[in-house]
Amino acid sequence: MNIPKNLQKLKESIPEDVKIVLVTKTRTTGEIMEAYNAGHRLFGENKVQELLQKKDHLPEDIEWHMVGHLQSNKVKYIAPFIGFIHGVDSLKLLKVINKEAVKNSRVIDCLLQIHIAREETKFGMSQEEVFQMLDSPQTADLQNIRLRGLMGMATFTDKSQQIREEFEQLADLSSRIRQGYMTLLPHFGELSMGMSSDYDIAIEKGSTMIRVGSVVFGERTY
Ligand SMILES: *Cc1c(COP(=O)(O)O)cnc(C)c1O
Repeated sequence: MNIPKNLQKLKESIPEDVKIVLVTKTRTTGEIMEAYNAGHRLFGENKVQELLQKKDHLPEDIEWHMVGHLQSNKVKYIAPFIGFIHGVDSLKLLKVINKEAVKNSRVIDCLLQIHIAREETKFGMSQEEVFQMLDSPQTADLQNIRLRGLMGMATFTDKSQQIREEFEQLADLSSRIRQGYMTLLPHFGELSMGMSSDYDIAIEKGSTMIRVGSVVFGERTY
């Protein structure tokens, strides 16, 4: 695997304003440093434990995103440094993030994870739940979180039309929220969608952040 070359190829194939969150789960610090030395600074992990272990052995100017499901009791470990949290799926979790952000005198950028896949297993809120959350006065009280947009994962399938429809659904929801909650959410507009297998479709549907691992680092071996 030529990591710098893969990264370069990826960058050249997508619009310049789409951010690449390089997902480093199962990758060694050596592999991560190859991307770092090629100039990349935005990385993501889906497990708190793995993120903490790696972070200590890597440069401080990396912007870390938490891209996976996050348990409330683990928020305190990442609150001091985390950039974005992509997988917020309840008001309860949002409140915990706010509390930990206050303790660290920080404002933490969050994305709400929406369930768009037809599979049962994926995490995320329904559209109904997200509107309930946004309409709750408790959400408006959370001063140390900034709701920046939505995140979603499409069904794992090779039916590209289905993936296209799921991403479209997420993009539609995002623009409805943006229009309906301008005062509450002045910083809203990011769309975290697309992984190695479907980022091209995600970008076509308006993704602003793709979360990719394998396309740069090669297939994962667990
Ligand atoms: C692993 C992971 C990715 C990246 O997966 P690839 O198929 O390697 O691109 C993206 N998002 C989340 C939440 C992940 O856990």
